[in-house]
Amino acid sequence: MRAVQVAPLVDARALDRLFDYAVPDGLADAVRIGSLVACPLRGGTILGVVISRDRPSYAGALADLAAVVTDAPPIPGHLLDLARWVSRYYATPLAACLRVVLPPGADGALRREPGGRWRLAPLPKGRRQLIASEPVHGGTARHQAVVGVLASLGRPVGAADLCRLARTTLPTLRAMAERGLLRLEEGVLEHDDPPVLHDRTIPTLTDEQRAAVDTLSADPAKPRLLHGVTGSGKTEVYLRLIADARSRGLGSLVLVPEIALTPQIGDRLVARLGAGVVVWHSGLSVGERARADARIRAGTADVVIGARSAVFAPFPRLGLIVVDEEHDGSYKQDSSPRYDARQVAYRRAAGEGARLVYGSATPRPESWYALEHVTLTRRADGAALPNVKVVDMRTQAAGAISRPLAQALQAALARDEKAILLLNRRGLARQALCRNCGWIGRCPRCDVPLVVHGRPARLLCHHCGYDASVPNLCPSCGSADVIRQGTGTQGLEEALAAVVPGARMIRLDSDAVVRRGELERRLREFRRPGGAVLFGTQMVAKGHDLPDVTVAAVLDADGPLQQPDFRAEERAFSLIVQLAGRAGRRGEPATVFVQAWEPDGRAIRLGARHAVPDFLEGELERRREHGFPPFGHLVRVVVDGSSRPRVQDEARAVADAIAARLPDARLFGPVALHRVRERHRSAVLVRGERAVELALPIREVVDERTADRPHELRIVVDVDPQDT
Ligand code: ADP
Ligand code: ZN
Ligand code: ZN
Repeated sequence: MRAVQVAPLVDARALDRLFDYAVPDGLADAVRIGSLVACPLRGGTILGVVISRDRPSYAGALADLAAVVTDAPPIPGHLLDLARWVSRYYATPLAACLRVVLPPGADGALRREPGGRWRLAPLPKGRRQLIASEPVHGGTARHQAVVGVLASLGRPVGAADLCRLARTTLPTLRAMAERGLLRLEEGVLEHDDPPVLHDRTIPTLTDEQRAAVDTLSADPAKPRLLHGVTGSGKTEVYLRLIADARSRGLGSLVLVPEIALTPQIGDRLVARLGAGVVVWHSGLSVGERARADARIRAGTADVVIGARSAVFAPFPRLGLIVVDEEHDGSYKQDSSPRYDARQVAYRRAAGEGARLVYGSATPRPESWYALEHVTLTRRADGAALPNVKVVDMRTQAAGAISRPLAQALQAALARDEKAILLLNRRGLARQALCRNCGWIGRCPRCDVPLVVHGRPARLLCHHCGYDASVPNLCPSCGSADVIRQGTGTQGLEEALAAVVPGARMIRLDSDAVVRRGELERRLREFRRPGGAVLFGTQMVAKGHDLPDVTVAAVLDADGPLQQPDFRAEERAFSLIVQLAGRAGRRGEPATVFVQAWEPDGRAIRLGARHAVPDFLEGELERRREHGFPPFGHLVRVVVDGSSRPRVQDEARAVADAIAARLPDARLFGPVALHRVRERHRSAVLVRGERAVELALPIREVVDERTADRPHELRIVVDVDPQDT
């Protein structure tokens, strides 16, 4: 008898195992490893994935598979292996890990059609629009130009996109269509990613870039780190490696932290590599994702650039993985499965024999320690790194902008130059404070100060969205002396208006760029010729290549150091170096100001000197002493629930059980965390040699305690956490 083992796509922990099914004769040809199947389970019919075709482990009569879902392709074998590895490494149920490798749209919604066939919910078709194609030479000079653009795109494109790229209008296109210079008709495009004009100018590599390409092209089995100062031309190095993979018929995967924040790198890859590049971002509709997915499977798209989930792109033959800006914490997913795309990339590259390159101007200590590194020490255009001045805020008058910075801003704007200011705090002010009695507006549900936002000012909770008005009189003592304390990005606007009245000011933070396209609009506005100030949260420091920036400043450089996290210094350091990287990109002499309350701190001092290797060596020494990564792995267990004593008791019990199970591991905690949405929380941190040796036993402890613990308590296990 033929049997298969199926993983049900159901999150219940009790169903987190493989189930045996018999394969009826009618389905024998259609069932493959990785197939999506409908199968009877606990009285219903659920979607599952065929994992293996072994002899059944169950001795009784087996239920029949109900159907093979043929409207979604099977999951390729190497991705199945990867999902199973994610499940083991991150101690997460397999169903949750299979979801990240399912084709778009195949997320568990099964429908039964009248004929009895099981199908997935149908995918939306592409958008109908006016499409231009078939350019023919002729017509006026203006027509020729449009024909030239359409010809160089090499495929049918939306009329609106063509108008944008060729700087023309729809009436002109219609006139051209009438003269037979191109074809215009309603339809659905096969590729719906926006077209980009080809850029065939390939720069000559600098000597350093050449050497880097050579080293990175050697022995593909060895993952490497490309440490290149900001502006050193890392992207050009990636482009050569991608071209090399392509010439051998292999695909390339380029991971970036948040593609919405750095659309330029996608544009640059598309412009240089042309068709075949898929830009994978969260703004794609399910239909667009499904079509991109099909192109990747078919091999007609061989380069994918995207954020962390793109690490699971279904390349049939993968030759290269690039993890750009590898220091960025957003590679870690903060919901289940809590995978780290950098770690998954490592595993995937090893499993599929792909070359692996991590790149950053401020690499993580983990990568510096573990990987051979190749360095680009100079900017590609020969420009110097900007001069950095540390401003001791203890010597300055109150206010977000110090005197030296104010003077530099005034001078820069007088010369029509640009400035970038980084303040990692949203809102008008950090908190509302009564100067008479010390009352601070706090969230009643989360035990954190409420942040002052907007005009008219409101008090908002950044954890749960709780919203209250700012009291005129202190609710505690009745005093009228309630003030805002600690400027945020919104408040900076006022401070700036006082320093550089009338200057063009552009704010960048997640409150300002909620709508799609708003970020691009604001960056375009900043690029316009003439003086301007770009200010905002760390968004302003992310990989933008902006001209004429001669002043940059981190307003609250020791802000990250207030977090009780062993990565706090690393964050403070990389913020300074990354922001400095945005200044002087075209060789303009630039100055970076670092405002700090403790200017002698290591992160500040070394950040100001761009002293990356020194910082990393010191950081590694400190981590070695404490056994922190890379000298060990951490697993964080967080218990949450509505009753403080129950949460505390459970965290204690979990900690004791882990200690008994893992006598060699070191435990920290339980430590009470602030409440979130009325849920009390308590965390235990476990440190040990290897992640797998921690994760599985901890998972088992947590599962064993399910029976004993009150139902409403939740326990989250996070392997290699980014926040500790
Ligand atoms: P990074 O990613 O290392 O910060 P980029 O790849 O963005 O640097 O390159 C910085 C700038 O230098 C870009 O404008 C790029 O076009 C340019 N550039 C890169 N390599 C070269 C080269 N070999 N010759 C001239 N310009 C280059
Ligand atoms: Zn008061
Ligand atoms: Zn709250």
